[in-house]
Amino acid sequence: MTASDRSPHSHARAAILSCGDELALGETLDTNSQYLARQLADLGIETVEHVTVGDDLHATAEAFTRLSTRADLVIATGGLGPTADDLTRQALALAMKDELVEDPFALEEIRAWFTGRGRVFSEMNRVQALRPSRGRCLPNPHGTAPGLAARLGSADVYCLPGPPREMKPMFESRVVPELAPPAGARVRTRILGTVGLGESQVAQSLGELMQRDRLERGLVQVGTTASGGIVACRARVRGGEDQLDEAAAIIRTRLGAAVFAEAHHDLPRAIVERLSSRGETVATAESCTGGLLAGAITAIPGSSACFHAGWTCYSNAIKSSQLGVPEALFASVGAVSREVAGAMARGALERAGGHWALSVTGIAGPEGGTEQKPVGTVYIGLASRAGALDVRRFAMIGTRADVRAWSVTAALAMLHLHTAGAPEMRLLRQTEG
Ligand code: AMP
Ligand code: MG
Repeated sequence: MTASDRSPHSHARAAILSCGDELALGETLDTNSQYLARQLADLGIETVEHVTVGDDLHATAEAFTRLSTRADLVIATGGLGPTADDLTRQALALAMKDELVEDPFALEEIRAWFTGRGRVFSEMNRVQALRPSRGRCLPNPHGTAPGLAARLGSADVYCLPGPPREMKPMFESRVVPELAPPAGARVRTRILGTVGLGESQVAQSLGELMQRDRLERGLVQVGTTASGGIVACRARVRGGEDQLDEAAAIIRTRLGAAVFAEAHHDLPRAIVERLSSRGETVATAESCTGGLLAGAITAIPGSSACFHAGWTCYSNAIKSSQLGVPEALFASVGAVSREVAGAMARGALERAGGHWALSVTGIAGPEGGTEQKPVGTVYIGLASRAGALDVRRFAMIGTRADVRAWSVTAALAMLHLHTAGAPEMRLLRQTEG
């Protein structure tokens, strides 16, 4: 049987069903739906509805029935385990008015999964080999729960395991090859990452590229998403890569040095790639970010090529003894100041050598703010081997975690601007040069 025998139907509209009390009650974040909807969108299949149900047989069966009238593809995740609250198999059979039968091949695979790990097969797992008599099992190399595939009314239904590390490979290897997006529907996507501009400024510069009907007219359509100081521009087209190349070139012309990457919106990755390709290094000197900046850089594979040293200097005494910050500054201008940020960056550059050093000193809150320096006041310094010293003051907003995360982005954004030849460009939340 080939994929086309199984699914002679086109899949234009999808619905996603998430099953589990932990999801309905808000204990676990439903990441499966986001993943599936994104993957489907890239394939040209539009997701028209997301539904979450608790572990309830009739509610799940009803959801299957209703979604099969809304969409021609229904993908469910969760509820395929061996315990009494795993009801997706029964619910699907109920919706299909079918009975459950034991699948001998699936049973063998489950047994093999246990023996392969030196574990004893438990009779409890036997229910996982059940499937609707008019359905199929999908093998699961990463766990005990096989997936299910069946036809319900005019929809193709797939049931996948809940754990993302089992769900994703099963979706990619078993479901995607059987999908039939409408002809010419494949949507290609390219993401450009930007810093320094707000979402509305980006939208203004992109103008007509953001019109909502462009995709349907066969043109590149751009959408934006703002998060933590970064605006991602997502260019989509039902067409070829060359159209995306053209669109990326237009976006770069309009947004200039704000663009830090043309294939993703991961700023630490862009910095590591840029420094590595130029044979340059960066050191860090952190107070209020407590190592998060060094952590963001070293989270990127290959960062050892461009990162050799970072200091976390929380106390004033250590800022002086480790980085050579003049002690007098703490009394005269305070630890959170332009002067201390500058001295930390210079001190780190002198000690680590290399090309660049970044420093961060600020008040992350919720305590410690003053009238002159309220919570969220952060100074970020950048020193270069070429002799440049750029220190900027920022007014970050939000929680302690927000202030710290935004500071990491701002520091990396400063380094981006300097390496992109646009050191004069301002950043979001920046209040002084
Ligand atoms: P289940 O297949 O229902 O036994 O689910 C097993 C585990 O998978 C759950 O405990 C969750 O941690 C995880 N899981 C289930 N559904 C989702 C989902 N929609 N998003 C993220 N994780 C999930
Ligand atoms: Mg469950």
